[in-house]
Amino acid sequence: MMGAMKYSIWKEATLDLLFPPRCVGCDEVLSEENRKSGFCNKCKENIHPVVEPLCRKCGKQILIEEAEYCRDCLRLPHHYNQGRGVFSYEGPMKDGMYRLKYGNRREYAKTIIRVALEQHEDWLRHMRPEVIVPVPVHPKKLRKRGYNQAEVLARELSNKTGIPVEPLVERRVDTLPLKELTPEKRRKNLKNAFNIRKNGVKFKKVLIIDDIYTTGATVDAIAKLLLDSGAEEVYCLYGCIGRGY
Ligand SMILES: [Zn+2]
Ligand SMILES: [Zn+2]
Repeated sequence: MMGAMKYSIWKEATLDLLFPPRCVGCDEVLSEENRKSGFCNKCKENIHPVVEPLCRKCGKQILIEEAEYCRDCLRLPHHYNQGRGVFSYEGPMKDGMYRLKYGNRREYAKTIIRVALEQHEDWLRHMRPEVIVPVPVHPKKLRKRGYNQAEVLARELSNKTGIPVEPLVERRVDTLPLKELTPEKRRKNLKNAFNIRKNGVKFKKVLIIDDIYTTGATVDAIAKLLLDSGAEEVYCLYGCIGRGY
């Protein structure tokens, strides 16, 4: 046990040398005192972890305490049971998420997951997911980029919680950039984009993890697939989410 602990401290220190902790907002190498928060002094002011009141469905921060759901969720029902976001998708977080996805800044996952647990650990304990499923990317994209940012987040969450990661879902169609599509077209486009890897899902409670939540079309398509394959409850966690109204 002691040996394993010493090894892990040593490993952590070596990793810090190779990949020094950087501010998720601006990518500066962090000073000793800012390592705990994961943000430099300047970015701290402009980073907004999602706080109550939240939409009871998607987890967006909403303006009115009395409202149960955001306008988007009132308009469009979702397949998943409930979602939670870590940071508001604005300011320096937008660039940070871009680097997490395209710039090989996998180390950001540590900060994102640490804040995720500060905010949503009780929620996770209550929902008790048995497995974490990252939103998959198409194999072609995975080869090009070398990693899937959702899986990087999933692995870090798994390290911290002990909940296993299972890539139960695969992406079989390389979808069009979603920005160019209307919400209805997005949904249609995504309906057949995913596949369950094995026949049947043996887990009853599943947590999908993704980097950014926009309309929910992606996690919805995956949730539907999991629910049709044997899952009973599907929850979602995202690194960033927009604000709700
Ligand atoms: Zn910064
Ligand atoms: Zn909502």
